[in-house]
Amino acid sequence: MLQLLKDNLAVVEKNIADACKRSGRSRSDVTLVAVSKTKPNEMIGEVYALGVRDFGENYPQELKAKHDTLPSDIRWHMIGHLQRNKVKYLIERVCMIHSVDTEELAETISEQAVKHHLVMPVLAEVNMAEEDTKFGIRPQDAEDFVRRISVLPGIAVRGLMTIAPYVENPEDNRVHFRNLKNLSIDIGRKNIDNVAMCELSMGMTNDYVVAVEEGATLVRVGTGIFGARDYSAAI
Ligand SMILES: *Cc1c(COP(=O)(O)O)cnc(C)c1O
Repeated sequence: MLQLLKDNLAVVEKNIADACKRSGRSRSDVTLVAVSKTKPNEMIGEVYALGVRDFGENYPQELKAKHDTLPSDIRWHMIGHLQRNKVKYLIERVCMIHSVDTEELAETISEQAVKHHLVMPVLAEVNMAEEDTKFGIRPQDAEDFVRRISVLPGIAVRGLMTIAPYVENPEDNRVHFRNLKNLSIDIGRKNIDNVAMCELSMGMTNDYVVAVEEGATLVRVGTGIFGARDYSAAI
């Protein structure tokens, strides 16, 4: 298993490095978030041993269990749809919440953060392709959304996140990544207090190369590192 994970990780690393080179970016501007949902601690431990420190999870209880068992210098990213009553499991365990898509959720995160004397970095999730099946705010509502949540004391808006559609050809998602980047530049120019548009979380196994070329600072790669997921084994 270790050799397979090592080979997978080497491929992903090379693809990211090549995409950075092609687009004139520095490799250090892109963080690889290894998406470990449904994967056992043993596998995560092996990827950790290969040097990865950023891991992404979708389910609060699963994240809590893994956080409380695995090495404490792992940076856990919450990337999945989040219900308000689950925020309490995450507030002291994650370095960033990528999936903030309602004011109510932002308020709950802020309340919990204040209670724990911390400020939680968050990203606003934008549904760039405006798919009915996806969570996320509409692109045209993003600036207003960011303005509204920016006043909450327990969160710091650090950028935008999107989950692009599933497509056969990753080039088809380039437009969504480019539009997210432009949206982030537009909002950044408004100089809203307490908002820094420095992170763009975009790109998954199928399309992270295109996302890096278009400016991703966080790519969320699961299958490409860990192999296909078996949801029946999830916590
Ligand atoms: C599962 C998941 C990923 C990783 O998907 P892969 O296609 O396996 O790389 C990335 N982002 C989000 C939000 C996810 O839910």
